[in-house]
Amino acid sequence: AQTPIQADNALPVYGAPGTSKERTFIAVKPDGVQRNLVGEIISRFERRGYKLVGLKLLVPPVELAKEHYADLSSKPFFAGLVDYMTNGRAPVVGMVWEGPSVIKQGRIMLGATDPKNSGTGTIRGDFCLSIGRNIVHGSDSAESAEKEISLWFGGKGEVVNWTSNNEEWVIS
Ligand code: ADP
Repeated sequence: AQTPIQADNALPVYGAPGTSKERTFIAVKPDGVQRNLVGEIISRFERRGYKLVGLKLLVPPVELAKEHYADLSSKPFFAGLVDYMTNGRAPVVGMVWEGPSVIKQGRIMLGATDPKNSGTGTIRGDFCLSIGRNIVHGSDSAESAEKEISLWFGGKGEVVNWTSNNEEWVIS
């Protein structure tokens, strides 16, 4: 029998790093949405075997983008980065993905921050050219994943625990 879908109310919105329940925050940025790459990016994580446990489409409020990129607030490109994420010319697709080593592997699947250094076969290495338009975001550590999932998916039940019928064929 199918395990019913459960809202993730009582549990933390992030899974314990180092377990098969590890979770990361991945986002398709506005340029990725404009360029119709949402499906491609979701597909890559699905085909790898990772599980989608959170998904939303939104134009992020300025305060959310500033908090998300707080570490970069002193950089000269910060204002442009916040505007690019929040100006509403296209939304952001925020996602939470779950599975073994998903934080580290998610970063590997994205490729280097500057697409000029991203290997072919990575999302950035295959689909973009410029650091200011690098189409995807992925948490870079367990601490960032926890912070970002709470920030983007803080609402009750927005991250969903569910059992994939494929799991025994993907994780042993
Ligand atoms: P990552 O997104 O790979 O974690 P960073 O946290 O260093 O990389 O930077 C966050 C985002 O800020 C980058 O993905 C990119 O969109 C933007 N960014 C970083 N460096 C620059 C830059 N020199 N010029 C313009 N945008 C930048």
